[in-house]
Amino acid sequence: MNAFQAAEHTLGKGRVFITRGRTCYQPETGTVNLAGEICLSRRIENILAALHECAHAHQHAQHPVIFAFRNLWPVRWWLEEDAWRCAHILACQLGLGAMVKSVKICAHASYTKPQVFVS
Ligand SMILES: [Zn+2]
Repeated sequence: MNAFQAAEHTLGKGRVFITRGRTCYQPETGTVNLAGEICLSRRIENILAALHECAHAHQHAQHPVIFAFRNLWPVRWWLEEDAWRCAHILACQLGLGAMVKSVKICAHASYTKPQVFVS
C-alpha cells in the first residue's frame, strides 16, 4: 500500500489528489493534496504524512467550529497533535501498526522532508 492508497482508503475515492505543490488538507473543497514524492511512496513516514492530512479532513467534519479558528495558536497546536494521534490510529487500522510503533515522526507533513527517528 502506498500513501495515496492509504489516504483514499481513509477518505474515500475522489477526495485525494496528486499535486505539484505541497501536501495539505484543503478546507475549501474537503480534499487532500499529496505531493508527488509522497503519494506513490510506501515509506511509513510518508503514509503517516498522508494520513495526518486525512485526519484534518475528519477534524473539519467533526469540529467545524474549532477548525474555523485553526490559525489561533492553541487551536493549531491541538489540531496538529490530534492529527498525528489520529494518523497513528488510522495506520494501525490499516495494519501498519507494528511499523508505526518503531518510528517517531517529528515534523508536519507540509514540510518537505519529515525527520524520522527509528527507536
Ligand atoms: Zn497538520
